[in-house]
Amino acid sequence: MLTSVDLNAVYKPGPEGGIFPVMRVLALNCGSSSVKSALIDTVQGRRMQEIHVDEVGGDLPAAVDKLLASYRKLASSQAPEAVVHRVVHGGETFRDPTRLDDSVLAQIEQLNHLAPLHNPPALAAINRARADLPDVPHFAVFDTAFHATLPDYAREYALPSDIRQRFGIRRFGFHGINHAHVAHSVAAYLRADVQTLRIISCHLGNGASVTAIDGGRSVDTSMGMTPLEGLVMGTRAGDVDPGVLLQLRREGHLDADQLDDLLNKRSGLKGLAGTNDVREIERRANAGDEGCILAIAMYVHRIRKYIGAYAAEMGGADVIAFTAGVGEHSALIRRRCSERLEFMGVALDVASNDALKLSSDHPLAAFNAAGSRVHLFAVRADEELSMALATASALGVNAKS
Ligand code: ADP
Repeated sequence: MLTSVDLNAVYKPGPEGGIFPVMRVLALNCGSSSVKSALIDTVQGRRMQEIHVDEVGGDLPAAVDKLLASYRKLASSQAPEAVVHRVVHGGETFRDPTRLDDSVLAQIEQLNHLAPLHNPPALAAINRARADLPDVPHFAVFDTAFHATLPDYAREYALPSDIRQRFGIRRFGFHGINHAHVAHSVAAYLRADVQTLRIISCHLGNGASVTAIDGGRSVDTSMGMTPLEGLVMGTRAGDVDPGVLLQLRREGHLDADQLDDLLNKRSGLKGLAGTNDVREIERRANAGDEGCILAIAMYVHRIRKYIGAYAAEMGGADVIAFTAGVGEHSALIRRRCSERLEFMGVALDVASNDALKLSSDHPLAAFNAAGSRVHLFAVRADEELSMALATASALGVNAKS
């Protein structure tokens, strides 16, 4: 399904009719089953146009071609001046928005084994887009990059160093584009320097991760070498005793592909409740479904464990923020994650949490009680906007952040 929303209404003409320093960046965000795109005016920090293709039906390059054809029809004064692509895994190499050329693409391709479901479709889309829009610079931003600041004790696994080195085993962390966006959004809202804040950012989408952001730097995060570690997710198990995998290998005779399928696609909320749709799980739990009641309890319990751990790591927290599908929309999950945290200075305002609605005009809302030492926020994830702003600033354009 192709949905197009013309957001030109919010696009403002330049000051005094002069040349307006517009940096129009086209952000392309390719998932395994959908492509999101937005043309962003990075000076206003606004979308000029957006197109989503929800069902790519296994032919991602065709979906990208179709979508780019719409952007190619724009007049030159409206056309993209740069394109930015989201790449999930940047490995050890990529820590900043990076301009793409053949040699950078070859290096990204070498990381495919680290994110086999995510990096190859992104590369396919990049190749199409470079062919379709050859005259503008193309950039990549990486989900792992924000976590390049993890201290060694949070980055390493307690395995022998020769094994870690030989197989490149370490924690990377993901959802960095959005965790960084959350940190900068709450700092801007609080009119505080991000360097003075200790933020716990809970990204709760289908994939989910919590990040501890101390002074603007990621100091710990719940996803690890791959996006399998940490929280209970839509279809991923999150933390399990590695001994369970040994048991399944030895007693259940599951091979690596079967374990991969089990942990990535058949576990998490789906494994517990039969569906990964949190709305549906909430409805069934309300009607007394025991599996759904347990699924919500485990989901919340795991998030609270990480919130407590990260507050301990940072010596407290100034902000707890909830973002992505569940974090933005589920008052129940936000409430249950924020309860009984008075010991660390959290006072929840149940009524403002229940009434909270985010939109593109209101992308952030507070739901702590007056006098709470810790600010509670829901923040709208906007990866395309964050990607475009990062690109504009890499190109040296004075972008609004
Ligand atoms: P993705 O990681 O695929 O981008 P999203 O950030 O869109 O995912 O989050 C998807 C999740 O958000 C799903 O579990 C969905 O059920 C949940 N969600 C969306 N709207 C609501 C809502 N109103 N209440 C509870 N959960 C919601």
